[in-house]
Amino acid sequence: MIDPFGRRISYLRVSVTDRCDLRCVYCMAEDMTFLPKREVLTLEELDRLCGAFIGLGVEKIRLTGGEPLVRRGVIGLIRNLGQRIGAGGLKELTITTNGTQLPKMADDLYAAGVRRINVSLDTLDPAMFKAVTRWGEIGQTLDGIFAAKTAGLAVKINAVALKGVNEGEYDRMLAWCGEHGFDLTLIETMPLGEITGDRMDQYLPLSVVRDRLREHWTLEPTDYRTGGPARYFTVKETGRRIGFITPMTHNFCESCNRVRLTCTGTLYMCLGQEDAADLRQVLRDPGAGDEGLRAAIEAAMLRKPKGHDFVIERREARPAVARHMSVTGG
Ligand code: SAM
Repeated sequence: MIDPFGRRISYLRVSVTDRCDLRCVYCMAEDMTFLPKREVLTLEELDRLCGAFIGLGVEKIRLTGGEPLVRRGVIGLIRNLGQRIGAGGLKELTITTNGTQLPKMADDLYAAGVRRINVSLDTLDPAMFKAVTRWGEIGQTLDGIFAAKTAGLAVKINAVALKGVNEGEYDRMLAWCGEHGFDLTLIETMPLGEITGDRMDQYLPLSVVRDRLREHWTLEPTDYRTGGPARYFTVKETGRRIGFITPMTHNFCESCNRVRLTCTGTLYMCLGQEDAADLRQVLRDPGAGDEGLRAAIEAAMLRKPKGHDFVIERREARPAVARHMSVTGG
């Protein structure tokens, strides 16, 4: 699939549920209203949609959410998708998770064909972890991370850079990741969805973080890419990588290769724009069939915008995009 700007779309991110067992302050309000079940695609429908995308050239699928691993029966979907790796056309199946379910699911994920996962961990400090996630216990996530490592999964830690919150922790986190063999990616907070508080208070440009890290670490530029927006450096002292995702200070849209499917079958061609295609309607239309689904996906690709234009400003109280990251899939 090639979009109007010549970009090949080969990466599908799928939010399998909008529900989560944590309530990270920058991601969700505490009293979230979740989608009614009938609006959410069944696992069979999600499987069929993913199959259609793979048939059109998608090579990488990432399951996310909400928390993908809290959706009941999700392992069945993961096993089905895992069977498409290789000759089935899929090169990689991966997951972004908060890690809480990994102690019981890591082995199953590996057996299903998953080899790499991203685990979100914004801090190593138990009290701060509780404050950021509202409901979380760090021990559960750490147990999950180590269960994944033991199961043979490569782990990348994702941390959102939050001014005045985990700002003093990146040196420690980089050392910890080095010690345990994990890569680390730092992410700028993005203006997605209504939350409690002012996002401007949380926003910390990663250019500043990178300069500070350089006081203690040797960051060697690398052209390593995972097909995502992160720019990676090798940390000479640990041999691991650190990535920076900078949607606010650097626009990475020119190399965008992805689209995002929500658990209701809405396809967003850009994380930072409102335009979307309703694939659930096509999926549930008995007259449309596989051909109709294919045509709807191809038509949506032609509407992929050139890029997003996030701005965080105090005078603009509303978020740039009204939907939460947990809806579109982070
Ligand atoms: N529950 C899973 C997890 O915790 O990774 C997957 C979904 S979560 C929405 C995916 C990622 O999006 C997490 O790393 C989270 O920190 C990040 N995220 C959520 N809201 C964000 C925002 N407003 N700006 C930047 N990153 C955000």
